[in-house]
Amino acid sequence: MQYPEHLEKIITTFRKLPGVGGRTAERFAFDLLTWEEAQLAAFAKLIDETPQKIESCSNCGALCERQSCNFCQNTKRHQQILCIVSSPKEIFSIEKTGHYRGLYHVIDDLLSPLDNRAPSAVTIQKLKQRIKSLGVKEILIAFNASLEGDATAHFLKEELLDFNLPIYRLAFGLPMGSSIEFADPGTLGRALTHKALF
Ligand SMILES: [Zn+2]
Repeated sequence: MQYPEHLEKIITTFRKLPGVGGRTAERFAFDLLTWEEAQLAAFAKLIDETPQKIESCSNCGALCERQSCNFCQNTKRHQQILCIVSSPKEIFSIEKTGHYRGLYHVIDDLLSPLDNRAPSAVTIQKLKQRIKSLGVKEILIAFNASLEGDATAHFLKEELLDFNLPIYRLAFGLPMGSSIEFADPGTLGRALTHKALF
C-alpha cells in the first residue's frame, strides 16, 4: 500500500534525522496528521526561521542568536583558558558537566589523513589570533578519541608550539560504571597509557 505522496515526503524527511528509522519516521508523520493547523503552522515557522535565528559566533563558532555568543559575552568565565572542540554541539555536552568555566573555540575542519583534509590556513590563523588577543594561558583540546581527533590534536600542538602554552587533552579512560573485564582493548590500552597519578 502506498501512502499519499505528501505523507511519503514527510516520512522521507523525518528519515533524514539521525537515529530515525522508517517506522519511527512513519509514527512521527502520522502524529503530525493529528495536530491542529495552528500547531503545524507554528512548527513550520520554527523550522523555517532556523537559518535566521541561529548563527555561529564570529569569535568562537558556538551557536548563538546574535553575532556574539553567551560564552564570549560572559566576562565571568576564565578568559585565558581556551577549550578547542570540533563541533558547537560538543560545547553543550561540556557545559552540562559544570566542570569547565573557560572559553571555547570550534575547529570543524579536522585533519583527516584518509580524506586528505586538514584545518585550513584561515582556521589556524583565526585560532592563533584569538589566543593572542585573549592572552590565553592554557589550552584544552577536547576532540573525540578517534583517528581524526588524534591527528588534529597533534597537528595543533605543532602549530601552537611558539606560544609555549600548556596544552592539555581530555583524559582517556574507562567510562563511569564500566568494568575492566568488558572494556574493549582500545579503551583499556589508552587508560593504561594515560594513567593518572593517584
Ligand atoms: Zn563566542
